[in-house]
Amino acid sequence: MISKSIILQGIGITNKRVSGRLHFLKNQGTTKKRKSTYNVGTELLRFEDAKKNALEKVWEIEKRAKEIIGGSEAQIFEIHAMLLEDEDLNDSIIDEIKKGKSAEEAIELASSKYARTLIDIGDEYLSGRASDIKDVANQLIKALDKNENSNKEVKDSPYILVAEDLTPSETVLLDKSKILAIVTFGGTPSSHTAILARSMGIPALVGTGKISQDYEGHLALLDAVEGSLIIDPTNTQAQNFEKSRAKENKIATEHERYLRSLINKPAVTRSGHKVMIYANIGNENEISGALSNGAEGIGLFRSEMMYLERSSYPTEDELFNLYRDVAIKMGGRRVIIRTLDVGADKQIEYLNIPREENPALGFRGVRVCLERKDVFKAQIRAILRASYYGRVSIMLPMVVSEKEILASMTIIEECKEELSQRKLPFDSKIELGIMIETPASAIMSDKLARLVDFFSVGTNDLCQYTLAVDRQNSKVAFLCEENTEAVLRLIKMSAKAIHENGGWIGVCGEMAADLSLTEELVKIGIDELSVSPPYLLGVRGKVSECR
Ligand code: PEP
Ligand code: MG
Repeated sequence: MISKSIILQGIGITNKRVSGRLHFLKNQGTTKKRKSTYNVGTELLRFEDAKKNALEKVWEIEKRAKEIIGGSEAQIFEIHAMLLEDEDLNDSIIDEIKKGKSAEEAIELASSKYARTLIDIGDEYLSGRASDIKDVANQLIKALDKNENSNKEVKDSPYILVAEDLTPSETVLLDKSKILAIVTFGGTPSSHTAILARSMGIPALVGTGKISQDYEGHLALLDAVEGSLIIDPTNTQAQNFEKSRAKENKIATEHERYLRSLINKPAVTRSGHKVMIYANIGNENEISGALSNGAEGIGLFRSEMMYLERSSYPTEDELFNLYRDVAIKMGGRRVIIRTLDVGADKQIEYLNIPREENPALGFRGVRVCLERKDVFKAQIRAILRASYYGRVSIMLPMVVSEKEILASMTIIEECKEELSQRKLPFDSKIELGIMIETPASAIMSDKLARLVDFFSVGTNDLCQYTLAVDRQNSKVAFLCEENTEAVLRLIKMSAKAIHENGGWIGVCGEMAADLSLTEELVKIGIDELSVSPPYLLGVRGKVSECR
């Protein structure tokens, strides 16, 4: 039992202070952390329990899926249920447990063997089932973990979530209503955990270094303003914390009242430069927050979030329904849908992207889309169809060359042709833009600007690639803050190029929300700033103070 107060430092995200109990995210690195000898009886029981729970969950999801997306799409869950009860798979798991393996190891071994057998048969349908087996195995392992680690007392009320790291797919699946704050051992202000925390408007502390799981359930004070976490605070620490929190809340309320008075006024600098204030979203639910905070459009819809939440490709119709709803809810305001940006830290199992030594420099963004043409085309057709219902634009991620834009344009034309044949309406003049996220795209911006309507600067990746600073690595995060000039020069170069070609430029990376850089960005001639909904008011206020 640990009781002495400890103080940890990290990088604070979202200027707030909260207190609550710590809850550690389990199931990170499952089988690797386990022992090597097990009681066969206990492991068999754990497996049976997990199977029962996983089955109940699958049937529950199947029922919900039928209601929401219809019978044929819900069939996948029936297959999952059948696999959970598959005799061969079950026997093989039980055999492995009897050989002395843990339930987790047995599930992994037996399911990989089974999946391999199906792939080796060489039949397309059976190969497709191999990824379902992997999915089912993951569900079983999660069910095992849940049974073992459930800490009801802590999990029933909102908590401060502590994790070594959070992948984007883990974050989209979190029960956000329960989270007071997030703490990660690693991470940086532009890592996806930080982005998610910002969009949820909750405080976070990243880069704290390892915290012992013995602190599960302990009381902690998280100060995202100062960048600290006090575990097991003394009475004096708790009182001081409350005093600062009360003072800060008062100032914040007054400032927010002032910012709210600007909400329906255009964001114009004192010298008359108008800046569009747009929102970054990852799903439809974020639109209400965007609109209530004065978003004039959606500058970045991270479309990959929908792909991360599931275990198989979304269909064209599912994508279309989502994009159409977003377009309608935004009521004629611009909605920029970034095409699938997976790879690097956003991995999706069913895409079967091979393991890479340097995923951030590997198969990601538009590179994936141009190779998985069927996946790309389904998404483009869905975006085009939605464009009929609002003001929708297409944006390509991770571009480095004209060739990638031209190849994407050919695919977009093919999709338009297909929709015309199907007699489906779309906006034939839909705008096309690219993300400026690589130094190459900024350096070549004079040529790229001739092909597109707009640029949007993804400073999270642009900083990473320009400064050779891994955006997930807290150890080197300071280099981004210290070396903004290199990145600003690339942005300036891109702004000049697109303006000379009659287009416009926005910034949608985290730099857009950094109020210490607003003046500089406006001076460069940035036409649009796109930020997480909780940051919209602050950015609008700051622009109107700029010279
Ligand atoms: C960026 O790189 O700045 C960006 C907005 O894209 P993401 O953070 O999703 O990589
Ligand atoms: Mg990016």
